[in-house]
Amino acid sequence: MFGWHWLIEWQTPYEFHGHLIDKVLAEEKTPYQHIMLVEFTRFGRGLIIDGKVQSTLFDEYIYHELLVHPLLLSLPTPPTNVLILGGGEGATLREVLKYKSVKKVTMVDIDDKVIEFARKYLYEWHQGAFDDKRTNLIIGDGYKFVEETKEKYDAVILDLTDPIKDSTSYKLYTKEFYEKLKRILNEKGGIVTQATSPSFSLEVYVTIYNTIKDVFKEASASYTYMASFDGLWGFVYGGVRPDLISENEINTRIEERIDGQLRFYDGYSHKVSFSLPKNIKNEFKKI
Ligand code: SAM
Repeated sequence: MFGWHWLIEWQTPYEFHGHLIDKVLAEEKTPYQHIMLVEFTRFGRGLIIDGKVQSTLFDEYIYHELLVHPLLLSLPTPPTNVLILGGGEGATLREVLKYKSVKKVTMVDIDDKVIEFARKYLYEWHQGAFDDKRTNLIIGDGYKFVEETKEKYDAVILDLTDPIKDSTSYKLYTKEFYEKLKRILNEKGGIVTQATSPSFSLEVYVTIYNTIKDVFKEASASYTYMASFDGLWGFVYGGVRPDLISENEINTRIEERIDGQLRFYDGYSHKVSFSLPKNIKNEFKKI
């Protein structure tokens, strides 16, 4: 037994989240961040970046399914060209590749070490997705990529580390950046971003929603419980309104568009995840 891993969440520096770790598999400080691959006693294998749990075998599928599918299923036509920024574990890529219509997925992550560790230790996350012939894997800064790309995308998925001031991902949560994203989207395209935690940092979740709403006009938000994050986790979608799609229609589109199994997301989980309580909705600019 390795000992307790004490996690101090950046949103709540006055409280601890403790997870017992059996073994540290790998650890490295890269030019961008501090990476650890561990075996948690309760959650199994997991990735920690800068002291924060990014995903664990126990519930990574909940996070990645709720990130990807509401966006891709709410596009009026099935997506063919998708862009992922971040998502180093390869699980977001895995979910996007389940779409029969997808011809190309470009994934841009700033840190090749995360990809190297994911290939070595996180097979269950990517399940070979990095080597799919539709995958275009690029190591680089997502912000710069968006400024320079000549392509148009049906969907852009932001699976980035949290927006901590001066971090590599901070500027990818700004109004200026969302405006740049709008320019590289096809006419009826949409975006989604992980949006931190309604339980630890409601103001950050709300700010991300309100910023996206300013740029895209159409926006919606979801959240779910993530045991390995010790609380609720949120997602914000722009340019699309997954919240207006019925439970039955989600189930129909899953049948039509997806090849492969989903473990968390279906019409019912969709309805539950988009049912925001009054106190959160009151903070949002008009939905
Ligand atoms: N699930 C996670 C969470 O809870 O925050 C996020 C997943 S993923 C591991 C985050 C990835 O974002 C990392 O692999 C990191 O290298 C990448 N990243 C951070 N800043 C980036 C940038 N500017 N451009 C591209 N990728 C970036």
